[in-house]
Amino acid sequence: MKYVDEFRDPKKAQALQQQIAELMQDLSKGRTSPLQIMEFCGGHTHTIFRYGIEQMLPDSIEMVHGPGCPVCVLPMGRVDDCVALAERPDVIFTTFGDAIRVPGSKKSLLQAKADGADVRMVYSPLDALELARQNPDRQVIFFALGFETTMPSTALTVQQAKAEGIDNFSLFCNHITTVPTIKAILDSPDMQIDGFLAPGHVSMVVGAQPFQFIAGHYHKPIVITGFEPLDILQSIYMVLKQMHEGQCRVENQYARVVPEAGNEAGLQAISDVFELREFFEWRGLGSIDHSGVKMRDEYAAFDAERKFNVPNLKIADPKSCQCGEVLKGVIRPWECKVFGNQCTPETPMGALMVSSEGACAAYYNFGNLPELLARREQQQADAGASAA
Ligand code: SF4
Repeated sequence: MKYVDEFRDPKKAQALQQQIAELMQDLSKGRTSPLQIMEFCGGHTHTIFRYGIEQMLPDSIEMVHGPGCPVCVLPMGRVDDCVALAERPDVIFTTFGDAIRVPGSKKSLLQAKADGADVRMVYSPLDALELARQNPDRQVIFFALGFETTMPSTALTVQQAKAEGIDNFSLFCNHITTVPTIKAILDSPDMQIDGFLAPGHVSMVVGAQPFQFIAGHYHKPIVITGFEPLDILQSIYMVLKQMHEGQCRVENQYARVVPEAGNEAGLQAISDVFELREFFEWRGLGSIDHSGVKMRDEYAAFDAERKFNVPNLKIADPKSCQCGEVLKGVIRPWECKVFGNQCTPETPMGALMVSSEGACAAYYNFGNLPELLARREQQQADAGASAA
């Protein structure tokens, strides 16, 4: 296939839908609950909703929307740290656009900007570095966020800053890692995931090898997946086919982009600049060992956490916020008590409503809102009746 339309061809989608339904006739025999496939990546969640893929699947398959949206899993305390840094009078605080509205315990970066902080949206860390060159009397901080996908560009920017001897540029590093997080999901007693769609962009950097343990140790099929609707349908089919054959392996559906060994130059830049943190706090999932990176001592001069006084407080999410249960797949977004009323994309209470890749925003924007709210009301009424 060459053009993007070909990845959205309705006839091919219907053929895959048919093949999935046929496999599920066998696979659902003897099962009392739907088979659960987790798409880890927020980009996949977005495609699934945008193209109505859930509606194409038999009821015997449930897609579980994983924690692979880095904006969504950022804990409130880290947002508060961003705000504290941004409110320093000597600082220009730079961020990607999707992080600017994430609520902290008191305000978001957007509200801090409205209150006078110098917060600027950038499209790349190199834009932030350019700001540092143009403003030698100010401290420019880049809010480094994302999985392994964005780590290489951040690492290369820091290497460039060091090579040029720029001393007014630093990172507030919130990069997170995929593999320890999938492991934590698999070890969680709450979750019963039968198979995985692995993140395509992360895999483009890390390759297929880091996912081998999912098939080898946990005996779950996993397919590295692209971002078009046919990619998703084909990958679901590939996961089911492995199950049907009694196999568990890592397959690469996104081979047009993902090399088996990953991106050597990107991996080299990451390991030069970053090292694993002992643990990192995730919104809704708690602390996960080795699930984040920090800057190596050789780059301490570019580390905002060492250069400035960062409050680094742990802040609990509001009680009514059920982001954690949604992230673990324990409840669906519309089952959260505040979904669609107190929590909307205009007034997000939780991070899953902020980013277009967040599961709650996807349900809100692309789901049938009145129907979802009616379902929740019915569910609550049923729960009340059985409790009485
Ligand atoms: S509706 Fe809002 S508070 Fe509830 S889980 Fe979604 S983002 Fe979190």
